[in-house]
Amino acid sequence: MPKKPVYVTQPSLPPLEDFTPYLEKIWDNKILTNNGPFHQQLEQALCEYLGVEHLALFTNGTIALVTALQALRIKGEVITTPYSFVATAHSLLWNNLKPVFVDIDPQTCNLNPEKIEAAITPETTAIMPVHCYGNPCAVERIQKIADTYGLRVIYDAAHAFGVKLGGESLLRHGDLSVLSFHATKVFNTFEGGAIICPDAKTKQRIDYLKNFGFVDEVTVTAPGINGKMSEINAAFGLLQLKHVDAALAKRRVLEQRYREALAGVAGIEQLPLPPDMQRNASYLPIFVTEAYPLTRDALYLKLKDHGLNGRRYFYPLISDMPMYRSMPSARAENLPVARRMAEQVLCLPIYPDLDDACVDEVCALIAEASHG
Ligand SMILES: *Cc1c(COP(=O)(O)O)cnc(C)c1O
Repeated sequence: MPKKPVYVTQPSLPPLEDFTPYLEKIWDNKILTNNGPFHQQLEQALCEYLGVEHLALFTNGTIALVTALQALRIKGEVITTPYSFVATAHSLLWNNLKPVFVDIDPQTCNLNPEKIEAAITPETTAIMPVHCYGNPCAVERIQKIADTYGLRVIYDAAHAFGVKLGGESLLRHGDLSVLSFHATKVFNTFEGGAIICPDAKTKQRIDYLKNFGFVDEVTVTAPGINGKMSEINAAFGLLQLKHVDAALAKRRVLEQRYREALAGVAGIEQLPLPPDMQRNASYLPIFVTEAYPLTRDALYLKLKDHGLNGRRYFYPLISDMPMYRSMPSARAENLPVARRMAEQVLCLPIYPDLDDACVDEVCALIAEASHG
């Protein structure tokens, strides 16, 4: 019997009957959205869980990114990474901002802080880095550059749920951090997202912006958008939150199993684990180098033939997409490291319900090809 295909990620759903009481509450009180009771509870619960002061829920991470840029009134040019999901740069275009791509560090796949200053012009107002795969950016270095040049820092922290650095939430860095709670992320609300901000005043402005700019029934202060999370999504988030520690623990165990099994495979490289951090094991990227007998794409297809689906995150580079590729910073010579990583990367299946046997099979297939 052919087995069911395995994907790079799969959401873990709590038992359906556990969700019923939440639905009954919504049916009883008939509050479906607009900062309802579950929405308020989830904002509170996430602040506590993540160790942050203020958090505004959103309908998805992309609208949260677009709104974060609006909230800080970012103008002109924004320095960002080409090695991310398209939403990072798209959020800039939706604000009429010019993305300026800077190359990444091969140890982290994050913006290389050594390359940032050379990309700053009089038009630069902000930096939008991504904590790729949940690995922390060079937050201290980036803040120092931002302080020197008077720039804002907005982190696309879509991969960074639950990550801690030196015992503190990674989300406390920068002016704002943006999370995604999409179904494929480590913590999901089907669709959803959030902006983390340091003070109540900024949260207030963000809350106006996500509700059309309404302050009260008759006062509209800004051309806001509809970015509100519904009660159903918020209720599901509250239920998911009960299981998230177990899910993260399971991911870390699977990550360890992969790392050990693949450590000795010639031609396959992994990113070093940064010290002093609590990981979320949100992704399992490997890099298929020239020393491996198969190309990355051949390995990707070989696994696929066995029903084991990896994903080439992130390939192609954002800077190679039609709406970005003619920009001066998108030139290949400007981004050699990002280009190499994009050509070599393969993210392997990792999610809480993945069996050990499946990890072993993926690793055995990868090792088998390396023996020629
Ligand atoms: C998932 C993701 C987003 C977009 O989040 P949505 O909730 O799907 O809109 C943005 N940036 C990165 C890096 C992501 O992985």
